[in-house]
Amino acid sequence: MKEKLEALLQGGLSELSDVTTEESLHELRVKYLGKKGLLTSVMKGLGGLSADERPLIGQMANVVKAQLEERVDSVLQDIRRKNKEEKLKSERLDVTLPGRRRPLGTKHPISQVIEDISAIFAGLGFKVAEGPEIEMDYYNFEALNIPKDHPARDMQDTFFVNDSIVLRTHTSPVQIRTMLKQAPPVRIIAPGTVYRCDSDATHSPMFHQIEGLHVDKGVTFGDLKGILTIFVNQCFGSGTGVRLRPSFFPFTEPSAEVDIACVMCKGKGCRICKNTGWLEILGAGMVDPEVFRHVSYDSEAYTGFAFGMGIERIAMLRYGISDMRLLFENDLRFLSQF
Ligand SMILES: [Zn+2]
Repeated sequence: MKEKLEALLQGGLSELSDVTTEESLHELRVKYLGKKGLLTSVMKGLGGLSADERPLIGQMANVVKAQLEERVDSVLQDIRRKNKEEKLKSERLDVTLPGRRRPLGTKHPISQVIEDISAIFAGLGFKVAEGPEIEMDYYNFEALNIPKDHPARDMQDTFFVNDSIVLRTHTSPVQIRTMLKQAPPVRIIAPGTVYRCDSDATHSPMFHQIEGLHVDKGVTFGDLKGILTIFVNQCFGSGTGVRLRPSFFPFTEPSAEVDIACVMCKGKGCRICKNTGWLEILGAGMVDPEVFRHVSYDSEAYTGFAFGMGIERIAMLRYGISDMRLLFENDLRFLSQF
């Protein structure tokens, strides 16, 4: 019995020293220490021993068992440590490697122009106001002194959603919505998207406008011209000529078209300005008392001016773009130039 236990211990220890995986370690543990393992089968011989030998051999078997278990545990720790080291080695990251750069886009020229114009007017005390693009006919037309059947409706080819709802044809309804919400003084600009049934090299069915409105006691046409001159000088360079020509809009009286000296030829005359030396950039005027009536402003106490301009027009002049459709095709080769 004694020799058998000795041999079992030596055999176990030597087999354990060759183990490299947890699976084979588990198999060895079952082989030596399992319920049907080698140690158990040796112990079955205890019954044939004398009463003196039995406790001695039993004690020895316990020692053999403990030694084998201890070795199994230490081999298991070794295997796990080795596995972890290998894993760390294979997954090692060089944190000093430079990152992979993603291509960076640029702001769309329309967004840039909107931001620049908004910043200029913010410096003049104008707050940004907004309104819905799907608009009531009332706000888009009637409250702006364009009743149904008014010939001025033909000036704008309108997308109708139904009889009383349209895609707004201009940012002017934001004037009405603002004045209905707030008593004078009002000093706002309203940049936004507008829609008209029109499409060619200089027209797009979807385009952008910026609307301006200033209402207070004693606001004059001179204030309008002053504000617009400051704007033109900041937007197109100081010293840029400004000219106002009489015009007609239903919601302003008197009304004016505003021209700037041609940015291409500086007023000498070229293809862009059709040899006039001037470029039309916006429409403006004093708010018609009829508009004030729709928002319950006292037109005896208050006066105001309004202006509106096309963002695409400004962007095309500023960047020398000849076809408006380029602005909406979103060709990256075109957009990345700005
Ligand atoms: Zn010119």
